[in-house]
Amino acid sequence: MKTGQINVQTENIFPIIKKFLYSDHEIFLRELISNAVDASQKLKVLLSQGEFKGEVGELKVEVILDEKKKTLTIRDNGIGMTADEIDKYINQIAFSGAEEFVQQYKGKDGADQIIGHFGLGFYSAFMVAEKVQIQTLSRHVGAEAVQWESNGSPDYTIEEITKDFRGTDIVLFISKESKEFLDKSRIQGILDKYCKFLPIPVVFGTKTEYIDSPDGEKDDKGNIKRVAIEVPNQVNNTNPAWTKAPADLKDEDYDGFYRELYPMTFDKPMFHIHLNVDYPFNLTGILYFPKLKENIEVQRNKINLYSNQVFITDSVGEIVPEFLTLLHGVIDSPDIPLNVSRSYLQADGNVKKISAHITKKVADKLAEMFKKDRGDFESKWQDLQIFVQYGMLSEEKFAEKAKSFALLKSINGKYYTLEEYKDAIKALQTDKEGNMVILYCNKVDEHFAQVKNAKERGYDVVELDGPLAPHWIGKLEQDNDKLKFVRIDSDSIDKLIRKEGDLPSKLSKEEEDKLKITFEAVVNKEKYTVQFDSMSESDSPVIITQPEFIRRMIEQQRLGGGNSFYGAFPEMYNVVVNTNHPKIIKLLEKEDSIREQQVKYLTDLAFLSNGLLKGEALHEFIERSVDQIG
Ligand code: ADP
Repeated sequence: MKTGQINVQTENIFPIIKKFLYSDHEIFLRELISNAVDASQKLKVLLSQGEFKGEVGELKVEVILDEKKKTLTIRDNGIGMTADEIDKYINQIAFSGAEEFVQQYKGKDGADQIIGHFGLGFYSAFMVAEKVQIQTLSRHVGAEAVQWESNGSPDYTIEEITKDFRGTDIVLFISKESKEFLDKSRIQGILDKYCKFLPIPVVFGTKTEYIDSPDGEKDDKGNIKRVAIEVPNQVNNTNPAWTKAPADLKDEDYDGFYRELYPMTFDKPMFHIHLNVDYPFNLTGILYFPKLKENIEVQRNKINLYSNQVFITDSVGEIVPEFLTLLHGVIDSPDIPLNVSRSYLQADGNVKKISAHITKKVADKLAEMFKKDRGDFESKWQDLQIFVQYGMLSEEKFAEKAKSFALLKSINGKYYTLEEYKDAIKALQTDKEGNMVILYCNKVDEHFAQVKNAKERGYDVVELDGPLAPHWIGKLEQDNDKLKFVRIDSDSIDKLIRKEGDLPSKLSKEEEDKLKITFEAVVNKEKYTVQFDSMSESDSPVIITQPEFIRRMIEQQRLGGGNSFYGAFPEMYNVVVNTNHPKIIKLLEKEDSIREQQVKYLTDLAFLSNGLLKGEALHEFIERSVDQIG
């Protein structure tokens, strides 16, 4: 037996490892299994290069839990190590960066990913083990098996042992504080998280499977009996869909892989994009478009980032533009520097290129779908719109491409691109200043009267809902000269698209003032402003409007999650009195008390038709209405 000291420049690296990687101890298993997979892959490479002439056999990694001995073993039949190699790769850790490591990453995010960067993957074992053994037999003909052992101090021993099989066992004697890692389901959980798609089979114990009785035994009903058998519990799919050629996959395969990724999700994705780049960087992956719900935040961060099939993180915010984090799926790239801090990642040239590339791919895919089958694209628009709007708002390059497939949905059931829509409404919906006015509503049902008025004038109305719509139309207005979006209830119908002069009013200024006093007496002045407007006789006597500007402010604030610095923007409405309506003109002749009663009734009706009559006010209105019945 030989003893020695692990060559580290700081007095002891173990306290550093323990301290700085504290938050995420479980990654030791990812590191050790990755090493085992690497050792297996290396053997394949050597074989293909003719440098290994022996029998490779069935390569696999086994994770063996021994609760009694309190050990966890990671076993591979890869290249193994000679005593010299152990000395070179394990003992002589070129750890000149230790000081720097401590300085740079103290308490920082992502410290868990630094470990591999400093060639410390193996040593992460000491986060959970009080003693670690490496038992290994090298691939070299006639090699002696050796065992290296260390208890977490820089001292180690190395001795010859007998080991019959090529490859390496890493035996962890799990420490008391880490006994959670002696729990089968805990280990299974970690394997599911990090190892699900590793390229070499990873086996953890056995599992029970039910098969038809091999000797054809039958039950009472004459059916072949099902019998339980124990089979190796392989935790990974070594050939996940993203590693295959798109030509070899059908839609069912993509759907199947989606279920593999998100076993708890029941919704089917709408469609997918298979990414496959080898120049100027390597990247593969599959991105899925989920059906987005109103609350977009909860659906974020479902993309899993892999490096050569090793799971790294499900937070890809630094690698793809924010709007793409709404997608689901997998990105695998060995070219993304995983071992550096997040802020550095954002500045990295490769990462920027990857991000731009993915954005372009996504836009191209949508454009292609639109071109190939517009009807199908339109049928998906409701679910796609948040995503497209978000993309247009946040990435100019995407916005540019999206012009060709971003749609407006008319209440007539048709879908238009903005350019098509402009052509369709040009004749009737241009105001006297030459602005093209797009009228919109959230849902037809909510604005029935206004939509009817608009239709009577030959106008069209588009339906716009979803949380991003107010921002999105703001962007379209910015990008398109002389384009205005106006919600259908933001003014009286003829003021929405101002044509030539206004209709003359049948009321004098004095008469308006007289009525104003009565109207102001019956409405809450903090919320409602009384105005007069010379609408047409056939329009309603009183309407409620909310100026476009105020409403957008409120909606944008709501999306922003509450109050701004100046406090919440108050809900303000106009009570607009039609000065040409016969009933309004007649009010002037009424006795004061009757006039007040009727004004109250007319305003209540207007509130009612806008869904603004609620609670006590609604109750009183109903009581008064019932009283009318003799
Ligand atoms: P890294 O994997 O980042 O190089 P590690 O500390 O994890 O750093 O491992 C150091 C080296 O030890 C590896 O590069 C490899 O040469 C060797 N090694 C570790 N585990 C194994 C194994 N299971 N089989 C063969 N060699 C191994």
